[in-house]
Amino acid sequence: MKRRDFIAGAALAAGANAAAFAVAANPAASETSNSKPLGKIALEEHFMAPDFIDYFAETYPNISPQIASFGLAALQDLGERRLAIMDQNRIDFSVLSLAGPGLQVEKDGAVAQKKSKQVNDFLAGEIQKRPTRFGGFAHLAMQNSAAAADELERCVRQLGFQGAMINGQTNGEYLDLDKYSVFWERAAALEAPIYLHPGNPIDHPAVYGGHSELWGPVCSWAFETAAHALRLVFAGVFERYPKAKLVLGHMGETLPISLWRFDSRWPISHRGSMTLAQPPSFYIKRNIAITTSGVCSDFSLRCALDAMGESNVMFSVDYPFEKTELAAQFIDNAKIAEAERINVASGNAKRILRLDRKIG
Ligand code: MN
Repeated sequence: MKRRDFIAGAALAAGANAAAFAVAANPAASETSNSKPLGKIALEEHFMAPDFIDYFAETYPNISPQIASFGLAALQDLGERRLAIMDQNRIDFSVLSLAGPGLQVEKDGAVAQKKSKQVNDFLAGEIQKRPTRFGGFAHLAMQNSAAAADELERCVRQLGFQGAMINGQTNGEYLDLDKYSVFWERAAALEAPIYLHPGNPIDHPAVYGGHSELWGPVCSWAFETAAHALRLVFAGVFERYPKAKLVLGHMGETLPISLWRFDSRWPISHRGSMTLAQPPSFYIKRNIAITTSGVCSDFSLRCALDAMGESNVMFSVDYPFEKTELAAQFIDNAKIAEAERINVASGNAKRILRLDRKIG
């Protein structure tokens, strides 16, 4: 099926799925939740702008047609429906980001730069309508590192955004390359967290052949994103820029459970001239924070808190691809200490996102 045909079909199906969302928006549905839900901040919450639907269609092979169709409609709502779902689940503040892959797959760097500014201005306009409820992550044209750094600075300083979200590699280039030093230097200086969101690699590794169910959130996205984050660690990006902060979703994309092994195997790996002053886990714990997006498991949360430290784990939903009510009730009722729960629900996000800048 051609992309445009799929989009047309998805738009039709989206109408049919509006009823499903109406059920989720029914206030009665939240009455089964914890009687004292915590106020929460969420930061992997996506939207869609009209000019970016074609890029989003690149993701359709990764997700079921049902998710793609209702997702598109929900992504485009930045008003009452989204706010109602936030209210029912005590999500006080959502940091919005364009659904991927966006400009990460744009081949023309000049087009990417122009559209990056456009979508960031669009988002800023939406945030201005509800500044106490919405924040923003910049969408950047990583084809040009210096220009991306400038746009990040404009978004943080002038538009009041909290940082940026990058959907994996950009035309085969990963963020540890030398060309991105100027970007990391700026992000660190701005204390702007960079949310590394899953995306596809440019090739299709043989291990996923004949298994389309593995190509996406079940498997390939986590491993691609984990490897990308490790490239940054081992290339020494965080050694050079100690104040740089990377954010990973999906309970850390498998990193937390593997810290010991990274430290154990790195010294005997085939690493050429690479050196690090500290073990890999030092940089992962100092420079990477994670969110709970799309993982509602007490076991995974306990592992993440213990491995990364309770100051590095933040609540998120991954709206509209995950169920807000499930994510919210999970964190409201998780088997963790109350101090940990407050940090995860909002405390860590306030600090890492520098919400003091927004509030003044
Ligand atoms: Mn997401």
